[in-house]
Amino acid sequence: MRILLVEDERKVASFIARALRENAYAVDVAETGEHGLELGTDTLYDAILLDVRLPGLSGIEVCRELRQAGVESPILMLTARSLVEQRVEGLDAGADDYLIKPFALAELKARVRALIRRGFHKTSANLHYADLELDRHRRRAKRGSSAIPLTTKEFAFLEFLLLRAPEMVSRTEIIEHVWDSHFDSETNLVEVYVNRLRQKIDHNHRTKLIHTVRGVGYRLGSIA
Ligand code: CA
Repeated sequence: MRILLVEDERKVASFIARALRENAYAVDVAETGEHGLELGTDTLYDAILLDVRLPGLSGIEVCRELRQAGVESPILMLTARSLVEQRVEGLDAGADDYLIKPFALAELKARVRALIRRGFHKTSANLHYADLELDRHRRRAKRGSSAIPLTTKEFAFLEFLLLRAPEMVSRTEIIEHVWDSHFDSETNLVEVYVNRLRQKIDHNHRTKLIHTVRGVGYRLGSIA
């Protein structure tokens, strides 16, 4: 899952980004509204966190412009004060939700999870495909009755494959959603992770679920 964070206060931005990365989200940070607008229109984010008070373009203006540009990613506004007008203005500008600063990290993470679920129109906390099951709240995976221990990145990778299953996902989409913009696309990290997931998911199973679409990407499905 890939998130855009637009926040001008560096300390706050790095604090939030670190917390989200620990939960296996890929996070891009923009320090100005202008940069946020540019990133938000160029990349398909799973969620956008937008601070209201920014130098130059305000968060509300950024939100309005993103919506006008046809960006449908769920947007969470971060408001500094509990001003009713600011909240209403944000929602009118097309934001999905708002959070008042200062907030607890647990609250932010819960809101982000809810926002992403809504974005995918999947209200279920569980993702299934064949006998593979992913519990997105507890961050647990199992195939049949056996639990599969996954690292946070492996979980994020598998979650993305499952959300699209049985459709194909391109290598570029995987990089964009599972890693962030600092990722060196020349490395073979994607292949390394696919191999690890195969070892964990498909090894010892007759029906293989992870398939390579030669030269393009990968697909999760029960038919090769
Ligand atoms: Ca600010």
